[in-house]
Amino acid sequence: MKDTKEYKPSPSVAPHPLKRLGQHFLTDQNIVKRIVTALSPRSDETVIEIGPGTGALTHQLVGSVGRLIAVEFDRNLAPVLEQRYGANSNFTLVRADALEVDFCSLLDQTAKARVIANLPYNVSTAILQRLISHRRCLSEMVLMLQKEVVQRMVALPGGKERGYLSVLVEAYCETEALFDVSPGAFRPPPKVWSTVVRVKFKELSEPGGDEILFIATVSAGFAQKRKTILNNLRNATGALQEVLKRNGGASIVLCKAEVELQRRAETLTLAEWDRIVRAMK
Ligand code: SAM
Repeated sequence: MKDTKEYKPSPSVAPHPLKRLGQHFLTDQNIVKRIVTALSPRSDETVIEIGPGTGALTHQLVGSVGRLIAVEFDRNLAPVLEQRYGANSNFTLVRADALEVDFCSLLDQTAKARVIANLPYNVSTAILQRLISHRRCLSEMVLMLQKEVVQRMVALPGGKERGYLSVLVEAYCETEALFDVSPGAFRPPPKVWSTVVRVKFKELSEPGGDEILFIATVSAGFAQKRKTILNNLRNATGALQEVLKRNGGASIVLCKAEVELQRRAETLTLAEWDRIVRAMK
């Protein structure tokens, strides 16, 4: 990481944080450095930063990477970011909603990009899911999320934290929780602790051999956490219901996959989800 001058947001260019956009700006320089060091930026790579805010991470990254693409939704922050970093030829500001951006189309190279973000908490899981769906052009991410979300991301089968997100992340990523961050590191401080996590995309991992069917099955399986896998799959709707019917119904599919009908979704391993999806093909 290039040792740049310490970043201090000037009050004149740091707009009032917006709660609805999850704006908790990092002010603890030690945490900023730990996050950027975890990424270990390289001069020959493209990094996508989601939600640069007033530039706490951007400031450390812009001099260290080949190209930095910052995606910020808040229109009021755009002039602040342009004023600070627009003169750097490797900096591109994309004023857009990360939930709608096609990340791959932002990249003009064949090499995969890496992602860094202190994600807005209110939409962090939705952005994470979108990033996973764009993994063909991404290799690795260093993300800060709410601590509880990271606990769900890394939860193993059998635990109460295990849910749709845990299975999705296990299917396509290798995750490593790096360190926790206290509310005092932000302005304004959030109510909860955060965790920085490293997410590496697995090469060639396609559980069930069909991403759309796999995601629909896991999503339906967790639809009502108190219900059994059988009942949740029986209540599946749309295309998944059709596929289940074509294969004799939910109980036949589960028997073929050797998954007991009374199990709950949070107890199923990735291998069992894989078998359920393959039993419908
Ligand atoms: N990176 C800065 C930092 O660490 O100080 C800001 C982090 S703040 C937690 C989240 C940032 O994401 C804010 O700048 C917010 O405006 C932006 N944001 C919120 N929703 C977004 C969305 N849907 N797409 C892109 N950026 C978003």
